[in-house]
Parts: sequence; structure tokens; C-alpha cells
Amino acid sequence: RTMSTTTYRLGVLEGDGIGPEIVPSSVEIATAAARAAGVSVDWVTLPLGASAIETHGTPVPEETKEALAGLDGWYLGPHDSVSYPEPHKSALNPSGTLRKHFRLFANIRPAKSFPGAKAVCDDADLVIVRENTEGFYADRNTFAGTGEFMPTPDTAIMLGIITREATERVARVAFDLARSRRKKLTIVHKANVLKLTTGLFRTVCQEVAQDYPDVVVDDFHIDAMTVHLVRRAQDFDVLVTENMFGDILSDLAGEISGSLGTAPSINASATTAMAQASHGSAPDIAGRNIANPVAMILSGAMLFEWLTAKHGDDRLATVAKTIEKGVAEAIAAGTSTRDLGGSASTTEFTAAVIEAIGAGR
Ligand code: ATP
Ligand code: MG
Repeated sequence: RTMSTTTYRLGVLEGDGIGPEIVPSSVEIATAAARAAGVSVDWVTLPLGASAIETHGTPVPEETKEALAGLDGWYLGPHDSVSYPEPHKSALNPSGTLRKHFRLFANIRPAKSFPGAKAVCDDADLVIVRENTEGFYADRNTFAGTGEFMPTPDTAIMLGIITREATERVARVAFDLARSRRKKLTIVHKANVLKLTTGLFRTVCQEVAQDYPDVVVDDFHIDAMTVHLVRRAQDFDVLVTENMFGDILSDLAGEISGSLGTAPSINASATTAMAQASHGSAPDIAGRNIANPVAMILSGAMLFEWLTAKHGDDRLATVAKTIEKGVAEAIAAGTSTRDLGGSASTTEFTAAVIEAIGAGR
């Protein structure tokens, strides 16, 4: 099969809350960008979330998992699992279920300021690579079960797990990324206190660094890192850290470089990837056509970027760049949703991005 006749097949899981608004917006924009780049994409809509509980009796139906296994990747809308009826409410939420099922070990979250959008730091351009299967959220780890237990009703204990294997594979993702960017990598840990666990994390990352002599490496304690991010986020390129530190740090980085509504992410294994906005389902604004679709749109661009390396098809990088440029153009030209200080609706913003893409600006 030749490159130009390849059709990429991507899943569409709308999810809950603002999901049915921001996911179709993102798919529309990616479709326009793919058309402009001459890339053929088949979109496969699959059930997920509250609506799937009604139709299939579970938020993540088996048929969804089976179908996703045969696709090149997928767009995951946010979910509002606290609103689900039991037993689904207490069970692992849909994104956790998919991360676990497909062993999506790397959570990649950029924080990049937009010209024209207000932010604490207006020239940040960094990426956090968060280990997604163990660390201090050991609920995701097979050794630890739930990762938490109570030996008495008044004592709760949490396990933290760091393994060489999981650290090394996420470190390689981070170093590869740094190599494709500004060739700087920062290891974030707390090896002065959590000596064995985060100490091993730092050691393994430093060992992997031997294979990347062209990448400049430094490291900070998680607490010091928060200070450096607020003061000088623009100095950082790629950050690699364990699960819980990465969760907290990426919210901080996302917020100082823009708004939650602009923060994209992907969750990746070696073979597949899931685009997922960093924010939740925003039930407080759902159904009003005012949600900011940018985080979801840019998560989609990240998926196309990730597919570029996997398939060696540079046209996919063009799709990613076209999406990013369309969003930046629309915002710079003064169209944005309320969370960014504008007044555009979700659909108006979507139309502005598609117009920018169509104009080939
Ligand atoms: P979760 O636990 O699912 O991550 P959360 O408690 O972190 O949920 P979010 O759903 O992310 O909450 O919403 C936090 C706040 O940010 C809400 O006020 C919500 O309306 C707002 N928000 C989140 N995403 C967007 C968006 N895309 N556009 C506009 N506002 C948003
Ligand atoms: Mg949240």
C-alpha cells in the first residue's frame, strides 16, 4: 500500500458533559486539516460514558475496546463519572479503564502560551511527560491492587511503586521528544526525601541520558520545580516525572501558560495513542455552546504528530501543523471563547478555525 492511498482510521468517543460539543468540533477541524494535506481519515464513532451506560449497561462497552484495538488511535471526550449510577460510579473511570486496558504508559502534556491569550507566562513552550502506570498513584499498578489500604479504621496507607522498566520506557519517550525539540530535559523527583522510589526514577533517567549525549539534562525536586515554573517557565523544554508529580505539575504548567480550556494531552503506548483534553467534562457549562474546544482540538493535533513518527508519513505532521496554525490564527485574529476573555461560542470558534485552514493562511 502506498502512502497516498493509506486511510487512517481514528475512533471518536464523545463522552459526557461538554464532550458532545468539543469532540465534534475537533473532528470537524481535523477533517478540514486532513483534506488540506491530502490525508484520508475514517472516523469511527463508538459508545462511551453516561450514554453507553443507558445503551450498553456500562460506560466502556466491550465493543468499544475491541474496535479501538483495530484503529490507529482515537479522540476521547471527557467523562463525568461521579454522576454515574453505582456500581459504575465507584469503578475505575473511562479514561483510567482505557489507559489500563491499552497500557498507555506515557501521558504527554504540553504547556504552550498563545499569542493573544492572557497568561501568567506568555512565552512558555514546554512538555511534561508523566509516567502513567505506577508511582504514587499505584491504583494503576498490577503489584499494588488499589494501592491504598486501611489496616485499622483510623490509619490509611498508600503504596508508591517505581520500577526500572516503567521508568526507562517513559524516559525514552521524553528523551526522543527532547531530541525533536530544544534538546533540554529536566528530571523532576524528590530524591532527598523519597530516596528509594524517586531516587530510582532519577537514576534510571540519568542512565537513559547516556544514550542521548545531544540532550542537556538537569533535575529538580518537585517543590523547587513549582517555583521555577512560575518564575521562568520559558526556560524549560521537556520535563519527565512520576505519576502524581506529573499530574499536579501539568495542571500548574497548563494554568500558567493559558487556561485549562487550552491544555491538550495524549496518552500513548508504543503502539497506540489516545487524544484527551486535560480538563474534565465541565458539567456546569455543558449544553450551552460556550465550551472552549481548543484543548481537545490540540490533543487531536498531538495525535497526528504522534502518528507521523509511527507511520513515517510526513503528511500527518502537516495535518498537525495545520490544526495548530488554524487555532493560533483564529485566536490571534480575536476569536476566542469566554474562558479566554472572548465572546465566541464553541461553534463560532470552530467555524473561525476552519475558515483559517480553508484560506490556507
Ligand atoms: P475532572 O475531575 O473530571 O478533571 P474537574 O473537577 O477538574 O473535573 P473540570 O470539568 O475540568 O473540573 O472543570 C473545572 C472548571 O473549568 C469548571 O468551571 C469548568 O466549567 C471549566 N472548564 C473546564 N474545561 C473547560 C473548557 N473546555 N472550556 C471552558 N471552561 C472549561
Ligand atoms: Mg480535573
